[in-house]
Amino acid sequence: MFWTAIHKHPETYKKTPNLLDYSQTCAAFSWDTIRDELQGLPDGRGLNIAHEAIDRHAESRLRDHVALRWLGCDGAKRDFTYGELKALSNRFANILKGLGIGKGDTVFVLADRIPELYIAALGTLKNAGVFCPLFSAFGPEPVYQRLKRGDAKVLMTTGHQYRQKVSRIRDTLPKLKYVLLVDTQDHLENGLLSMPRLMAESSSLFSIPPTDPEDIAVLHFTSGTTGMPKGALHVHNAVLIHYMTGKYVMDFHPDDIFWCTADPGWVTGTSYGIIAPWVHGITNIVDEADFDAKRWCHILESQKVSVWYTAPTAIRRFMRLDFEPARSYDLHDLRVIHSVGEPLNPEGVVWGRKAMGLPIHDNWWQTETGGIMIANFPAMEIRPGSMGRPLPGIEAAIVRRTDKDTVEVVDEPDTQGDLALRPGWPSMFRGYLHDEARYRKCFVGGWYLTGDLAKRDADGYFWFVGRADDIIKTSGHMVGPFEVESTLMEHPAVAEAGVIGKPDPLIGEIVKAFVALKTGINPSEELRLEIIGFARKKLGAAVAPKEIDFQPNLPKNKAGKIMRRLLKARELGLPEGDLSTLEKTE
Ligand code: ATP
Ligand code: MG
Repeated sequence: MFWTAIHKHPETYKKTPNLLDYSQTCAAFSWDTIRDELQGLPDGRGLNIAHEAIDRHAESRLRDHVALRWLGCDGAKRDFTYGELKALSNRFANILKGLGIGKGDTVFVLADRIPELYIAALGTLKNAGVFCPLFSAFGPEPVYQRLKRGDAKVLMTTGHQYRQKVSRIRDTLPKLKYVLLVDTQDHLENGLLSMPRLMAESSSLFSIPPTDPEDIAVLHFTSGTTGMPKGALHVHNAVLIHYMTGKYVMDFHPDDIFWCTADPGWVTGTSYGIIAPWVHGITNIVDEADFDAKRWCHILESQKVSVWYTAPTAIRRFMRLDFEPARSYDLHDLRVIHSVGEPLNPEGVVWGRKAMGLPIHDNWWQTETGGIMIANFPAMEIRPGSMGRPLPGIEAAIVRRTDKDTVEVVDEPDTQGDLALRPGWPSMFRGYLHDEARYRKCFVGGWYLTGDLAKRDADGYFWFVGRADDIIKTSGHMVGPFEVESTLMEHPAVAEAGVIGKPDPLIGEIVKAFVALKTGINPSEELRLEIIGFARKKLGAAVAPKEIDFQPNLPKNKAGKIMRRLLKARELGLPEGDLSTLEKTE
């Protein structure tokens, strides 16, 4: 791709980035130093995420600093200081303790982004339990599957969610002892308890029990983009990554106002929507509502957001509307925008510069990695379309399988292979729930294989090619969907594209694209041919799509990712597979 690099710092960046010299920081890096910047539990009792995130600030001059600014759908606004969150999460931890819920017990939350969700997360971690957030938009079946597989002991939810999704299956979940209802004032029968009442009766003092850094802290289900979601288990030690990436990638500075648009049901909404900003003692914005272009711009402006973490799906929605926020809103407090979840098309990076007044910094990671692994740091030249470079302390490589048990590192630049990480980083998942064999299969020849294909250029920037499952083999070429999708998006009529391989007796697979057009543009045969011609000119006949179908919306999951496997299954008339995370289309 022929995109010019974007040099960000030092011309316009409004702070001195925490990571100024990449090579030097990597050379001097040690996890011990990062650990020393955290506090640990008093008297050497270990490391607990909630202590690092809240209590240590509540005991400092940040006690009255706003930790959580909650914006309700109806326009309500509530602030919680570090001191208040400490007390509230202590109360929640005491509720659990009082119910006999202890170390390693799983506490699920099924709720919108309400303050209680965040209090429950912290309280569970303090009680050395395992926190597992679920998307409130999940239907009864995905809720049931996860509660069952995750051995839920406690569920915090609303009366409405409970009646709709849980009451009927309650008897089939014998391990689920208690359901805490956030909006009920009195206890009901059958272990249905009023959370407000228990909160009021509980003490605001709590002493966190000894927590080993290797104790399981969070259970997160993957997004289900490629198949049945897997439950990834994370430990308290992961907080080292949340802190380190908060410092070097998010580039948090004191007094920053941070907004991560992800729901905690997706790992981004927990690692960065809960933990990372609080470990840095800054103000974290939580918006209860879902995407709305004007609302979001209003939040950026009125809340003076300085660091914004969002996803390509949201960026494409802005682009689809041909909406340029910087023209109508005062975004001068905004210092940096980050994106994760899917490849960010170069067009998106460039759109950011034009429409938001800032380029967008892409970064890459997975539920399994627990935190950001590869990123375009604020101080670094952005190469649009690239995921960036590995974090200090993270060894990433392109590898090729040599046989079942070994891989070799591909040293030649710009050569496609499997994206691999050297195991051992603090937030590495410690298992897939009830699936030890699958976990072990991820590790080959001393590397963790991510399931993604990528290239590395001569300067150490990584370029996403596609998921191993999505690679198209056509006429002897291996085509990554991302490259084709990015080219299609350069066409002015295209808002979104999903590309699959469609089996063909002659050439293996043909490249087929599904395209959603920008608002106000109607599909026509003429436009279809024009887009095919456009792609051919840019990509060559072998790689350009031979077929294009227009669709009003592409199928996406709740993390906003295009589900190519579903496009493919539908195209081929095959079973659609696990649809538990499919988002209803607007
Ligand atoms: P499942 O594992 O259930 O199929 P998933 O892989 O989408 O779902 P996540 O852990 O949420 O679940 O997503 C991680 C994946 O998302 C990565 O492996 C990669 O394929 C994709 N991804 C995330 N960030 C980026 C990025 N910046 N560029 C390209 N791909 C990305
Ligand atoms: Mg995955």
